[in-house]
Amino acid sequence: MTVYKAPVEDVTFLLDDVFQIDRYNNLPGFSDASPDVRAAILEEAAKFAEKVLHPLNHSGDQEGCTRHDDGRVTTPAGFKDAFRQMADGGWLGLSGPAEFGGQGLPVTLSQTVNEFMISANMAFSMYGGLTMGAMAALLVHGSDQQKTTFVPNMMTGKWAGTMNLTEPQCGTDLGLMRTKAVKQADGNYKISGTKIFISGGEQDLTENIVHLVLARIEGAPAGIKGVSLFVVPKRKLNADGSPGEANGVSCGSIEHKMGIHGNSTCVLNFDNAVGTLVGEENKGMQAMFVMMNEARLGVGVQGLAQSEVAYQNAVAYARERLQGRALTGAQAKDKPADPIIVHPDIRRTLMSIRAFNEAARALVVWTSLKSDVAHRSDDAKERQAADDHMGLLTPVVKGMLTDVGFANAVAAQQVYGGHGYIQETGVEQFVRDARIAMIYEGANGIQALDLVGRKLPKDGGRAMTAFFNEVAAFAKENGGNDDLKPFVAPLSASLQHLQQATMWLMQNALAKPDNAGAASTDYLHLFGLVALAYMWARMAKTAQDKLAQGADQPYLKTKLVTGKFFVERMLPETALRLARIQAGAATMMELPAEAF
Ligand SMILES: Cc1cc2nc3c(=O)[nH]c(=O)nc-3n(C[C@H](O)[C@H](O)[C@H](O)COP(=O)(O)OP(=O)(O)OC[C@H]3O[C@@H](n4cnc5c(N)ncnc54)[C@H](O)[C@@H]3O)c2cc1C
Repeated sequence: MTVYKAPVEDVTFLLDDVFQIDRYNNLPGFSDASPDVRAAILEEAAKFAEKVLHPLNHSGDQEGCTRHDDGRVTTPAGFKDAFRQMADGGWLGLSGPAEFGGQGLPVTLSQTVNEFMISANMAFSMYGGLTMGAMAALLVHGSDQQKTTFVPNMMTGKWAGTMNLTEPQCGTDLGLMRTKAVKQADGNYKISGTKIFISGGEQDLTENIVHLVLARIEGAPAGIKGVSLFVVPKRKLNADGSPGEANGVSCGSIEHKMGIHGNSTCVLNFDNAVGTLVGEENKGMQAMFVMMNEARLGVGVQGLAQSEVAYQNAVAYARERLQGRALTGAQAKDKPADPIIVHPDIRRTLMSIRAFNEAARALVVWTSLKSDVAHRSDDAKERQAADDHMGLLTPVVKGMLTDVGFANAVAAQQVYGGHGYIQETGVEQFVRDARIAMIYEGANGIQALDLVGRKLPKDGGRAMTAFFNEVAAFAKENGGNDDLKPFVAPLSASLQHLQQATMWLMQNALAKPDNAGAASTDYLHLFGLVALAYMWARMAKTAQDKLAQGADQPYLKTKLVTGKFFVERMLPETALRLARIQAGAATMMELPAEAF
């Protein structure tokens, strides 16, 4: 019913030409990802996403997950087999370390594969996504024994991972957490409490589930500083490491929700469940942050992925649906009406989604490349700069790509008119599925506060200054190139807006923190627009260079037109965002609560 074709050509352009990832062959794993290997992996991933996962997207949505009386949860028909195929295909361990059974390839490559899988079936892809996040946290903060016990089994998809933060009284404010951990004589802990909204908390895909759980050790300090991280397997492990008797964790219920029906969202009751500490006591948030950063980038990719699949379907519909005539006269004279793709307003919608998707994809690749450098370079300075970039861009990728990804799914639905509101066409599922990405992994309002309150001022603004300098240097270097002017001049203007906004915050938010809170979402979007404009300028430069070298590909010409649309019609939004930021918090905060 719906269509999906993985954007392999676009990803190849980014990896090979724009970011030239072969330049990073000095980093571990990069030389193994030679152009041929990359092409083969992308082709296989595309096939798996298009032929195995996409056909299960609608049926998974319709069927959803079921909790049985004995607490078991079954996933939709076909998910178990698809999960086995994903695990056997090595997709979970694509960029995992070889010593734990992974293939050690760059995250830059695995994130592009993730996009394909999420577009094809977001609910399904979450089971693997959370497993990868849990592995990342264990690899950084786990003991050697925790790593060797859990990670290889997760890398091969025998076991899955989950992330347990949320409780009924505690979502954003994790300092309110009540789940408690009691130390035992053998060094283990017994965990008791209730976690809610746990994605993949119970399922029938794997023989064991590795729950990473935040809890408060008896006597720990109040608030967020008294929270520790534990690993709690669903089934306790026998002496030989195989899953044995049930641990004290059970699924009390599953949520009936707006979208991602194929992913089980569970209430998990921990009743003296046996777990081991990950990292140090009361340093749980530090350990969990590794998983959350990983997951936040992944959630940003969800926004892009839903925007992409919604776009592809809207284009297919707009080519077929016949309504009205083109303003310039009939185009399809043999038909009773023209396809709606002739109408400028339909094109405005499609071009807006497309221009966002292509730049957002570039931003994901760029940020993933920094993640690889931050984790794999042996040069401490290079690692620090890459880590700065990751810290700064993570809330932007998460917040902006999911806000706009959802808006784009709605815009794609609009192309269908009333048929988009009817379940049969399938486009309304993209809207429902995309919506959650704005909420979990830290609601987008919190991402904006993280950017403005933490990431901007961190280390005296080092990350922000590096970003500004990089964009300004590109603009300076290419400012004299007439062909690039349509990209570079608006990029410079938008950078100025961002710098003005940053200055305004420095002058007005320190003494009045409400000014920072009131500005934060607009600032995040302003930042995101500049980052996307920078991606467009780099893509345009690469496309022009390739055309000048004699490459005559319609793909490159389309790229340039799409980029021009972005700078002409989408980038001017930076002026609006700046004006809102500079309006300050006074009016927003004036009314008493009872006046609302
Ligand atoms: C389908 C689904 C899957 C999920 N999966 C998981 C999972 O696997 N593991 C897990 O642990 N959790 C999971 N969650 C929980 C999710 O991460 C939380 O719902 C989210 O973090 C928000 O918490 P909350 O719902 O309690 O909202 P609240 O914290 O109550 O926030 C409500 C609103 O207030 C805003 N707000 C709160 N505090 C502030 C502040 N200081 N300043 C400004 N605005 C503020 C928020 O942005 C939000 O808009 C899932 C949720 C859903 C719906």
